[in-house]
Amino acid sequence: MSSTASFPSLPNRPLTVAVLGATGAVGQELLELLAERQVPIAELRLLASERSAGRQLVWKGRELTIEAVAAGSFEGVDLVLASAGGSISRRWAPVAVAAGAVVIDNSSAFRLDPEVPLVVPEVNPQAALEHQGIIANPNCTTILLTLALAPLQARRPIRRVVVSTYQSASGAGARAMEELRTLSRTVLDGGEPLSEVLPHSLAFNLFLHNSPLQPSGYCEEELKMLHETRKIMALPQLRLTATCVRVPVLRAHSEAVNIEFEQPFPVEEARALLAVAPGVELLEDFAANRFPMPTDVTGRDPVAIGRIRQDLSDPNALELWLCGDQIRKGAALNAVQIAELLLKPAQPAQVPAPSAARGAV
Ligand code: NAP
Repeated sequence: MSSTASFPSLPNRPLTVAVLGATGAVGQELLELLAERQVPIAELRLLASERSAGRQLVWKGRELTIEAVAAGSFEGVDLVLASAGGSISRRWAPVAVAAGAVVIDNSSAFRLDPEVPLVVPEVNPQAALEHQGIIANPNCTTILLTLALAPLQARRPIRRVVVSTYQSASGAGARAMEELRTLSRTVLDGGEPLSEVLPHSLAFNLFLHNSPLQPSGYCEEELKMLHETRKIMALPQLRLTATCVRVPVLRAHSEAVNIEFEQPFPVEEARALLAVAPGVELLEDFAANRFPMPTDVTGRDPVAIGRIRQDLSDPNALELWLCGDQIRKGAALNAVQIAELLLKPAQPAQVPAPSAARGAV
């Protein structure tokens, strides 16, 4: 990205907001959140591809017409919430910034650009105020993971993280969710499930994450978790290895996380920290063997964490399990929270509670 402009905060008046990718899984969630939360909106523009142009959507009782994104789409726009994929963001985000807008981008296009902040508001809120027009929203599994890691890192340094993900169909967009529904019906009816959106049928099945494989044997999603966690937490040397798996869940991702520290970390201390960590809720009942499930967090804001326990194979390591709605906290909610940080940057009390990375950045 190259930008000479600097826009630390959003104007102090009702905003003109554009949602790029308004018809998608993340775009639809963004519209719901914009109706619920605190971003003051004077005008909302819904942008998507030619395929959706002319369709009407109702937002807060108003009928809005979807427009195909074009050169003039960003004139007079203060804030763009982009969720139309990396190539679309690479093409249109600079256009929007040149027109004077701040862009909060859900794609991976700019996340590792050193000039672009990569922000989880509960972890590194101050980074949002250092942008030059574009702020990147991290990868969904990474957002959920950092909410668990940051409060622990603040108490005792993390040496290594081993994470396995259980990622829902919705992570691949609205069409993948529909495909899981349809192919599940096909299997139940005795038919052969033939996938078109995902590379394999997810119905009563699972497969390793379908992002492109790299020469190291890791897929892109796994490497996003490594590089983005390092950037968000300002821990450039953090050792992290991930295995990402797509599972037949409609919505909300889960992660099994092993965290090795430089020294032993008492389980009760970790539990107490996570119990009060921003954006986190503890959901664990050992007596009833009841821990977070995707259905516990679907459509909800917090990341649910449970089954925090000592790793029996390593005195310095803890194990935990987490579930989070990745369309919400893993994408749309995180983006809207970033916008909220830009509304009142002069009032630090509005920023979520400090955490590990905060002091380190
Ligand atoms: P999606 O459901 O497939 O939606 C894609 C959106 O992009 C649709 O609104 C689509 O509009 C629009 N679009 C596609 N091609 C376009 C074009 N040429 N010009 C303008 N708009 C175009 O995908 P999604 O799951 O919402 O993901 C969107 C982005 O967010 C991706 O970058 C993804 O990696 C990221 N993300 C997704 C998640 C998740 O959990 N799903 C989480 C974090 C980040 P039409 O309806 O007109 O095709």
